[in-house]
Amino acid sequence: MRKKIVAGNWKMNLDYNEGLGVFSEIINMVKDEVTGTQEAVICSPFIHLHSLVQLAKGYSKVSLGAQNAHQAESGAYTGEISAKMIKSIGAAYVILGHSERRQYFGETNELLAKKTDTALANDLRPIFCIGETLQEREANQYFNIIKSQLVEGVFHLDAAHFSKLVIAYEPVWAIGTGVTASSEQAQEIHAFIRKEIATKYSQEVADNTTILYGGSCNPKNAPELFAQPDIDGGLIGGASLKSRDFVDIVKVFN
Ligand code: PEP
Repeated sequence: MRKKIVAGNWKMNLDYNEGLGVFSEIINMVKDEVTGTQEAVICSPFIHLHSLVQLAKGYSKVSLGAQNAHQAESGAYTGEISAKMIKSIGAAYVILGHSERRQYFGETNELLAKKTDTALANDLRPIFCIGETLQEREANQYFNIIKSQLVEGVFHLDAAHFSKLVIAYEPVWAIGTGVTASSEQAQEIHAFIRKEIATKYSQEVADNTTILYGGSCNPKNAPELFAQPDIDGGLIGGASLKSRDFVDIVKVFN
């Protein structure tokens, strides 16, 4: 059975003390209010990560992740953070391929394939983001775009390594815009992604892959989105900065 996951992406928000405050509220609410088997993940800025891992000790349903990692193991890359460093402080996940990294930092499918390999070699679980822009949707190219992001970014992996990934479908036109994909639009793409995984690997691998939806997800629209058969949770940006909203989204699976 695939895991239901709700992951927060704080992006470049919250200073150190604010982050600790929001996270303390989240873990207390998750402890008291969340049942079932799902996992809540917070992907914080690097600055917070070690302290949040310490705070989360003893809360089995809460894990931590980074928002990026370098493709090299180590070396002369001033200002960068390696997968090994992230793993060494006890984080479990790393977001790779977020559309903001693709757009503002020029990250290509080819680079992301390398980042994925390095993250997996260091026992981090990538939350691998794919999704089309508004232009690509309007030009009816979205199936091709999503397929090429999968083929070029992660389909070089063998089944054992691929099984460690979480896939996040994030239509770029829905990120931070307040415009959510309808549950039908999201389900259509999630089913397509699962079919592509089944064709490449096997139905079993596809059935076991957690596929998250991301893009203006909030406590109001999450129940309908998460009720779709191929949507296994969400990657949450803006709403993960408010502890109450984030936990209400996590509770959708109760
Ligand atoms: C994101 O950036 O991953 C995201 C889904 O953002 P938002 O929820 O704010 O649209």
